[in-house]
Parts: sequence; C-alpha cells; structure tokens
Amino acid sequence: MKKGFFIMVCLGISALLFGQEIDPTLTEAWEPVPPKVTPGIFPGSPPSDAIILFDGKDLSQWRKPLVGYGGSMAEVEEVAKKRAALKDYEEKDADWEIKDGALIVAPGKGHIETRKAFGDIQLHIEWLAPVDTGKTGQGYSNSGIFLMGQYEIQVLNNYENPTYSNGQAGAMYKQSIPLANACRPPGEWQYYDIIFMAPRFADDGSLIQPATVTAFHNGVLIQNHFELKGPCIYRGEPYYVPHPEKLPLILQDHDNRVRFRNIWVREL
Ligand code: MG
Repeated sequence: MKKGFFIMVCLGISALLFGQEIDPTLTEAWEPVPPKVTPGIFPGSPPSDAIILFDGKDLSQWRKPLVGYGGSMAEVEEVAKKRAALKDYEEKDADWEIKDGALIVAPGKGHIETRKAFGDIQLHIEWLAPVDTGKTGQGYSNSGIFLMGQYEIQVLNNYENPTYSNGQAGAMYKQSIPLANACRPPGEWQYYDIIFMAPRFADDGSLIQPATVTAFHNGVLIQNHFELKGPCIYRGEPYYVPHPEKLPLILQDHDNRVRFRNIWVREL
C-alpha cells in the first residue's frame, strides 16, 4: 500500500512539473471555479451575495405596483399592454406597516412590489399568519408571493384550515398542489425557500421554455421543478403572455394582516 501511494504521489508531482495532461477518462473539470459565497451565520440568514429586500427596518426596496397583476387571462393581457405602454412614471412608496421587525400587510392599501426586477432567483421569505379566530378557508391569512408579478406561490394559514388543495399554502395557485402540508400553527413564523426559473420567449413572443418552481416550506419540499402553465390566475385556464426577462416581485394584499420578514434573493 505504501509503495503504491508513493508511486501515485510521484506521478502527480511529475504531471505538475512537466505539464502532462490529466487522464481525460478521469473527467475532472477545473473550470469554471465556482464564485465564493459566504453563507449566512444561521439557517435562513442571507449569504454574502444576497440582495436584501426586507431586513426588518424599512421599505426602501418596495413601491406600489406600477401595473399590478391579472386575475384572468383577459386581465393579464391588459396588464401586459399597460406595462408595454409605461414610459415616464412616478414611483409611489409602499405603505404597509412595519412593526417589531415585521412587514405587515395593510388591508385595503393594495399590493406592493420590489423596485428592482428579477428573473431567475433563489428567494428566502419568512411569513406569519396571525391568529384570527372565526376566519376560515381562503379568508384565513391569505397573501401571496407573485414571482415576476404573476406566478403566485400561495401564502395562507392551512394549519387545520382546509381549502381547495391547489389554493392552499405552498400551492402554485390553481396550478400545482403542494407535495406536503408543512404549515406551522398561526402565530408562528414559517418560511419558504424558492428556486424560480423565468420563462424564456423567442423574439416572436413564442414560448421557448416554461417557468419552473422548486420550493421548500419550513424545509419540506413542496414544489419539485414544477413547470408553470402560465400566470397564476383566479379564473380560467392559463397560457403564457410574453413579458420582459425581469419583472418585480409582488406581495399580495388579500385583506389579511399577514406578516413578512427576512426577505432576500440571490440572482441566478
Ligand atoms: Mg393569495
């Protein structure tokens, strides 16, 4: 054994010294070298290359939506037209409440969206469904994270609160039932880790590649590389409407005081 090891070391050193090629059947790839990313200190805390969207202090990364989203394909088409017609616009600051380090939906004030647009991302977001006795089904702590402002992963209290499966927490709304119900009880913080790949469109607007979502809810896999059929709409069958490569992320005001915190993304 010792002799064999010695021979291998000698061969390695001579390969380095004399620039001999490494045996290609070993299939070693030395390029590219992955970029260094310093991970967060705790699970869920942002790594060094993350863009912080909310750290408990302010809403500087958020504004009121410029065009919003559509609940039907007719509305989605309208929104796309409005977006294409946007020229000079004034950004209005988001006006949800911040309390105890959490961002709280302000019912009636409308959705909010990121000032920055995103395409392919890794997203971490923590949320809390407040205890709200008397509420049931879709009315109990409903919000949503609209990737690219149109592909919604549902936020809802579904801890012992049944509703339609493709509309419960972790569903890609009305398209994909979550693989598990990993909800914590209302009043407790929980989190999503989401990998979203934006759809690709050809110059003529035809779809080259659908959007995909992989997501974990409190560490449990709930969406496994699901291929979206189009925007997540309330009514009707979805289909793709071509849109820019990057778009803002929207958080939904569904009239419930859902809280969010520790929101960050990594662009992929
Ligand atoms: Mg929702």
